[in-house]
Amino acid sequence: MQCPFCKAPDTRVIDSRLFEDGTQVRRRRECPACDARFTTFERSQLQMPYVLKRSGTPEPFDEDKLRRGIEHAIFKRPVPPDKVDHAIENVIRKLRAVNEREVPSMRIGEWVMDELRDLDHVAYVRFASIYRSFEDVNAFREEIARLEQLPTAEARRSQMLLIDSEPAANAAIALATAKRQAAEHAKPAKTSKRVK
Ligand SMILES: [Zn+2]
Repeated sequence: MQCPFCKAPDTRVIDSRLFEDGTQVRRRRECPACDARFTTFERSQLQMPYVLKRSGTPEPFDEDKLRRGIEHAIFKRPVPPDKVDHAIENVIRKLRAVNEREVPSMRIGEWVMDELRDLDHVAYVRFASIYRSFEDVNAFREEIARLEQLPTAEARRSQMLLIDSEPAANAAIALATAKRQAAEHAKPAKTSKRVK
């Protein structure tokens, strides 16, 4: 590596050690031409940013922890495992793309909520109730009421498929959707599988 002081083409490494829990290498270099010493840090480009907890403490990103959080939210909900994997991949992709040393855990929580909102409303509310720590009970109720106005991803797909068919089919969808929402409201652990 070139000397940053006299621009001599090569410098020699006089010390090399692991840094930041072994995720970086710190090297002391010396220029044989001008005797200047300087330090370089090397780290993997794939390295994840640290997660900044609410307390302000940074901790390494933990994919298992992210997965546990999502699996806790979707417990007994009709969400296929490949959808969970896909959601985790999306969150990790966003985390890598931020190109910052630290990312607040709340931001990661918002990304997870974006994924869950599309997958399953009950799972979304479970997760949001923990992560967003709603200001008060009313704010939480408002969020649930808002969600009840939105069709689930599955209902949206069914509606897209049937949108061009006869009006009777559309009326049937509306009725089935209303029934499903009522059922979900009464028994959060159960849901009808398909709207036809
Ligand atoms: Zn030099």
